[in-house]
Amino acid sequence: MPTSKPVLDWNIIEIRDGVRSGDISAVEVCQASLDRIATYDPIYNAMTAVFRDEALEQAAAIDRLAQSDRSDRPLLGIPITIKDVICSRGQITTAASRILKDFRPPYDATVVTRLKQAGAIIIGKTNCDEFAMGSSTEHSAYGPTKNPWDTERSPGGSSGGAAAAVAAQFAPVSIGTDTGGSIRQPAAFCGVVGLKPTYGRVSRYGLLAFASSFDQIGPLTNSVEDAALILQVLAGVDPADATSVAQPVPDYNAVLKSDIRGTRIGVPRAMFEHADASIDKDVLRAYDSALNIFTAAGAELVDITLPHAAHAVPTYYLVAPAEASSNLARYDGVRYGLRASLDGAADTEKDLAAMYDRTRNSGFGTEVKRRIMLGTYALSAGYYDAYYGKAQQVRSLIRLDYDNVFAGDKSTAVDVVVMPTTPTAAFKLGEHEEDPLTMYLGDIFTVSANLTGLPALSVPAGLTTEQLPIGLQLIGRAFNEDFLLRLAHVYEQATPWHDARPTLKG
Ligand code: GLN
Repeated sequence: MPTSKPVLDWNIIEIRDGVRSGDISAVEVCQASLDRIATYDPIYNAMTAVFRDEALEQAAAIDRLAQSDRSDRPLLGIPITIKDVICSRGQITTAASRILKDFRPPYDATVVTRLKQAGAIIIGKTNCDEFAMGSSTEHSAYGPTKNPWDTERSPGGSSGGAAAAVAAQFAPVSIGTDTGGSIRQPAAFCGVVGLKPTYGRVSRYGLLAFASSFDQIGPLTNSVEDAALILQVLAGVDPADATSVAQPVPDYNAVLKSDIRGTRIGVPRAMFEHADASIDKDVLRAYDSALNIFTAAGAELVDITLPHAAHAVPTYYLVAPAEASSNLARYDGVRYGLRASLDGAADTEKDLAAMYDRTRNSGFGTEVKRRIMLGTYALSAGYYDAYYGKAQQVRSLIRLDYDNVFAGDKSTAVDVVVMPTTPTAAFKLGEHEEDPLTMYLGDIFTVSANLTGLPALSVPAGLTTEQLPIGLQLIGRAFNEDFLLRLAHVYEQATPWHDARPTLKG
């Protein structure tokens, strides 16, 4: 047992086995996590809620379990934070929006049920962009999260609180969501591992929907091995989510051990030359040295083209807001969350429409309103075919690009596509405030995996000259998460980056 290092430096297996054997109590682990949050979260603002008493009670209950009942729970005593868009029964869940202020769901999301059954302890909710719309965690009713590597910078988004919570070692695992990159981009900005599973691999039941045909839940962790352990618990069909898929779930940790000789890695270099990418030279350098690591491990590089990649960002920013505008119609002040008062309104204006209007106007933030307007416009009669319909056609072409590179004949097909996770490292807070389009363009490498539903993983791949983390992204065939994990694990074993940690202020 690694008694010499602080418990928050332990990996999942070390904590779990320590709790199982009684070498450390679940209460000690939980307390370490809560203490760290109490010390540092006033600076980083990664948490929107901390369930101190409940978490300690659950930990104590684990410590009281008989030895025989401890043995089969894969996440026994592991403290976990979850993004504030995932429902947990009786616990505040707001999507970082004023419109859900004080909302306490009457049920657990399927992922929460699974984590609890596995013995994990939910210690709190993490900050994010409102309804997961954003790339910086600045669009949050709770204010921005700060990047643990540099408090003047964004941790990325929308799961910025989740990535910061792992990087700052509040807990070894955070559960995020990824609609257009929101697990992978913050993971890259904060120097942690982030995995977006295949669409349908993990149940979305209990996730406050942003764009239902894109959204997936996945883990942010310190290592690929930890990501594999969490995916094992989250993955699998769920009768409560008709879009979850009854595909067998492999033993993710067992596959980490196999080698990658003969793997064919697709390198879409032409994509980096596209003007919109404006790729940073440190990011390119890290990418090239990652490719060298893979070839040294016996993989083969194959030049590929993804002809429609340049259209991914505009396609995403039409279809995702269209779905969002429909999903967010339910926040009307009637069923849950905020209801604006009509006090002060003229008697003639005290009607239902005025209540909707005031509630939505005061409850939603600027970015959410922007997306509702964009989406409503794209779906409206007369524009539907020109915008939404056209974007759906391009979405199919983007999917075909990937089908072609993955399923082509033996001499051209590849097993995985590798590219940077983001064109740059973490940007400064406020840097894109005046110009949302430049922020949208930063999603150029991540949105395709959501448009196509394919699995994608970001692994720490170096530091810039300013000592900011860089991410490397692997995109695989549908339901091939095991393969991505194996490849990323090989990369991680050959490089020091996942051990790099920020020095916290405070
Ligand atoms: N940055 C993207 C957006 O703003 C992705 C968000 C997400 O994945 N939730 O839509």
